[in-house]
Amino acid sequence: MLLEEKTCVVTGASRGIGRGIAEELGRAGGDVVVNYHTSEAAAHEVVDSIEESGANAIAVQGNVAEMEEMEAMSETTRRAFGPAEVVVNNAGITADQTFKNMTAEEWNSVVGVNLGGVFNCTQAYFEDVFDADEGRVINVSSMVGLKGNYGQANYAAAKSGLFGLTRTLALEMARSGSTVNCIAPGFTKTDMLEKVPGDVQESILDQIPLNRFAAPEDIAGLVRYLAGSRSSYMTGQILPITGGMEW
Ligand code: NDP
Repeated sequence: MLLEEKTCVVTGASRGIGRGIAEELGRAGGDVVVNYHTSEAAAHEVVDSIEESGANAIAVQGNVAEMEEMEAMSETTRRAFGPAEVVVNNAGITADQTFKNMTAEEWNSVVGVNLGGVFNCTQAYFEDVFDADEGRVINVSSMVGLKGNYGQANYAAAKSGLFGLTRTLALEMARSGSTVNCIAPGFTKTDMLEKVPGDVQESILDQIPLNRFAAPEDIAGLVRYLAGSRSSYMTGQILPITGGMEW
């Protein structure tokens, strides 16, 4: 199996894209840490589903915005499965508002989770990934980080911040042979997209050449490739996965 017995951590894996990624890494044979923040029951369902596919998984509560919680999660990971080899920084939130009306709280919370969370989690697992034979950090950004989006200055800033973080961390990891890449999904059918008004969803759909929103499985397939050996010469890259939508 592609990831047999590799320790894989997925933040924000209780729902949506993170759930899809965690299940895919489980199907590839990985031992999966299913991180969640508030959705405990959903995270346990994801663990059950991964175990049904024949792999090992545990659910670990932790807020990516808190460094101590990420450090505690990394210790739990090492005790359960050994050092992490694959870290997928997926957890994310939105708090949409026009820039003119955006509060400091809306700015800080979105930047704190989407960008600060990647700093905290990756710090907590840095040595594990650095020392791994084929370590992988995979950051989940967004097409919005590439092109901006009305009402999402906080989210776009955090998501494009991940591009610079990815490129720099890739340079700093390179001598270990471990890789760091970033994916930039387009609009994907999850709870996050459900928050977008129906008429706006319709107009977005018109701009997607493949004429459908992504499913979490579409995104998970790319993450599976990046997590495995076949991608070993690819690092520091930003990979849009948008159904052909222009950015
Ligand atoms: P959802 O809202 O469906 O799920 C978000 C997940 O992130 C949940 O598992 C949630 O956990 C977790 N989470 C939120 N805050 C925290 C936190 N502070 N600490 C740990 N976990 C947290 O989002 P999506 O699946 O749609 O998005 C996943 C990622 O993909 C995000 O980074 C998002 O920005 C990105 N993305 C999404 C797109 C889309 O169209 N949906 C497009 C491009 C990128 P819990 O439920 O336990 O609180």
